[in-house]
Amino acid sequence: MRTRASAAAAALLALALGCTAPPAPAAATHTDPPPSRAFACGICGGEITGKYVSVEDELVYHVPCYEKARRCDACGLPAAGSRGPAYVSPDHRVSCSVCQKEAVLSDDEANEVARVARAALADVLKIDLRSVPAPVALVLKPELQAKAGALSSNWIKGLTEVEEEGAADGRRGARHYRIWALSGLPRRILVGVLAHELFHVFQSELNAEAGTADLPFREGAANYVEVRVLRSRGETLRARLLEKQGDAVYGEGLRRFERMAKELGERRALELGAKMQGFPEGY
Ligand SMILES: [Zn+2]
Ligand SMILES: [Zn+2]
Ligand SMILES: [Zn+2]
Repeated sequence: MRTRASAAAAALLALALGCTAPPAPAAATHTDPPPSRAFACGICGGEITGKYVSVEDELVYHVPCYEKARRCDACGLPAAGSRGPAYVSPDHRVSCSVCQKEAVLSDDEANEVARVARAALADVLKIDLRSVPAPVALVLKPELQAKAGALSSNWIKGLTEVEEEGAADGRRGARHYRIWALSGLPRRILVGVLAHELFHVFQSELNAEAGTADLPFREGAANYVEVRVLRSRGETLRARLLEKQGDAVYGEGLRRFERMAKELGERRALELGAKMQGFPEGY
């Protein structure tokens, strides 16, 4: 999160960086032929008799077919064959046909997905944000990256902007939120991204200093919420990807937060995740 002085007196802009994710699910190359059942390549449809690639145990491919195919920026799978043809957005992101079919392209639809995310937060995690407005607006990648500034990454999918007015003498003012999300994300992934961003709103409401919280803690908590919401909706592949991220903020932060939730209980962990500035001792 970045805090900077704004031109307007006593106003504050804080940006909470949204989720990142690695470009591709883990692919394993097998040198033995597949087991007895006849396997068809997910791209060319041909039979697989020798070396092949499997992705998260769901699909198998001939090695050359897999290496030649473009990857979907949303799900990480090849945007070819059963998931083709590839669609290329105006900001040069590649979508497979499955993700493109449920791409969210209008602010109206994005705000409807945000209502689904809010309901999931309430049902799955007992986090209720109903009275705090946080309208969602969709943008293309260059615009989202420009808004994220120094915190930008190639895989950024959303961010939450916090504006505060009327703060004085250590007293906090009224906070207003806006969530920016990438245009064209598939609905099933956008629900998780918005759950993550809405948890940043929750953090900002419960903790006046959330803007300066320890990054692995703040993002680990938001990623925990995202993973729980995704799992509750059957999106285990996407949830596993988030859990496997290698970086110290989103990946390691999530794994540390998961450890904490396991030991302290989820309710307690989420309460800390919203109110504290960093991990308690031992996590
Ligand atoms: Zn975040
Ligand atoms: Zn093939
Ligand atoms: Zn896809």
